Amino acid sequence: MRVVIVSAVLVAATAVLGFGAAIARAAGYARVDAFRAAPTVLAAGHPTSAQQLWHSDKLNQIANDIVGANDMVVASEDDPAEWASFFPPGTDSENVLGFVILGDPSFYHLIFLSPDVYQVFSNWQSTGTTQGNEYPFAVAAMSLVHEAFHWRLDSGDESTVNACALKYLPTYLPTEFGVAPTITQTTTQQVPVTTTTTKPVKHVKYVNKRVKVHGKWTTKRVRVTTTTYTTVTSTTYESQTVTANVPNPEFQTILADANDFYVNQPPPYNAGTCSV
Ligand SMILES: [Zn+2]
Repeated sequence: MRVVIVSAVLVAATAVLGFGAAIARAAGYARVDAFRAAPTVLAAGHPTSAQQLWHSDKLNQIANDIVGANDMVVASEDDPAEWASFFPPGTDSENVLGFVILGDPSFYHLIFLSPDVYQVFSNWQSTGTTQGNEYPFAVAAMSLVHEAFHWRLDSGDESTVNACALKYLPTYLPTEFGVAPTITQTTTQQVPVTTTTTKPVKHVKYVNKRVKVHGKWTTKRVRVTTTTYTTVTSTTYESQTVTANVPNPEFQTILADANDFYVNQPPPYNAGTCSV
């Protein structure tokens, strides 16, 4: 039987990228709630039939959306030893993030993801966030999108498929992975408020008035009060909540990390053009 392993290769310099260390940190918090055992994913008789793989509805749905299918199965491996057993002796399996097998009907629309990727997605699904875990998440998301593009394009061309993963990651981050390109930021601003009030002003004046006292006319000084009104304008400052859409730092970090991951992968992974 001809088995074509089309893999997304993590560069040998995993330590340089800090991926291994980040995964180790993430693994401490990883739970597997969202994953369930999928021992029957593979048909009996295949080398992997005895292995325990995991799948989740969420990852299957992401793969279906990318491929435009409804029968995708993303099988995630949680055990590095089992993962190594999928490959010929001498394969640097730790650096294989995922693979698909094209041209064999019993592996149709299957995506295999490595223990490293499994841990990242497991952590993501149990915590609901990528924060603090952006680089490993960028690598995991790139791996899933990459493998899905093998099926979408029905192509084993690693350079094209990986270029498409990088090109479409900004599209899928919000729709599939819940990381929006912008966030709403609320700030408090001091806003001037002008108040106009009418104020009475009293005017007092004295006038001479002719009055008759004991039958004689005389002049008496009398006090006359008048009132006029004036308007007074005063300015005070009020706190007002202002909301604005600003770029989401998490989104930008993941894209920058994905780009860094891409350019640090060996040829042909880092040297393609997406055809779609
Ligand atoms: Zn590939």
